[in-house]
Amino acid sequence: MADRMTAERRHRCMSHIRSRDTAPEVLVRKALFASGFRFRVNVTSLPGTPDIVLGKYRTAVFVNGCFWHGHEHCRLYSIPKTNTGFWMQKIQRNRRRDAAVAIRLQTRGWKVVTVWECSLDTAHRKETLEALAARIRKNGEEYMEEQAARKAALQERRAQAAASKARKNSLSEEIYSRYNVPRRIRKASEDYECGYDIPSGTPDGQD
Ligand SMILES: [Zn+2]
Repeated sequence: MADRMTAERRHRCMSHIRSRDTAPEVLVRKALFASGFRFRVNVTSLPGTPDIVLGKYRTAVFVNGCFWHGHEHCRLYSIPKTNTGFWMQKIQRNRRRDAAVAIRLQTRGWKVVTVWECSLDTAHRKETLEALAARIRKNGEEYMEEQAARKAALQERRAQAAASKARKNSLSEEIYSRYNVPRRIRKASEDYECGYDIPSGTPDGQD
């Protein structure tokens, strides 16, 4: 019985590629927090359950173990000599999943950043974390620009809709007075034209 438990636990460890609170993950979180960033962790409501989500910067960060996620040309990623086919298949699958998750997030307007475990070793850590912070800030600026552009486009559409409505009204007015259209016909015609498509709501599509 005890042996079965061990096997189960082993299986759990191996099947969960996104294990929580790994040392590299905690390191990145602490560094970001110390730099003044605020974020959510292990966000299950987003594709792939990103490790760190910075809503204000519309950025999702994945801290990837080099082996499980198959970091190419990396000293931490080498396929075991035994069961090689099994491992290759497993890691290929993880890589495909990572790529699919990134696309799903990007189509929802998220900027995806991957931090590899190997880039957090003592020799590269400082550089990696500084680059990460810079990247997040840049993402935030881009996000603000995107939002401003969306807002401007929305206002433009509203203005166009209003202008076309005004044109139509003045034309109707002209026709009514020229041909002396009775009030009840005017009313019926106005009721009939109820379909101006003026977009409403804000362009801010936060998830
Ligand atoms: Zn690596």
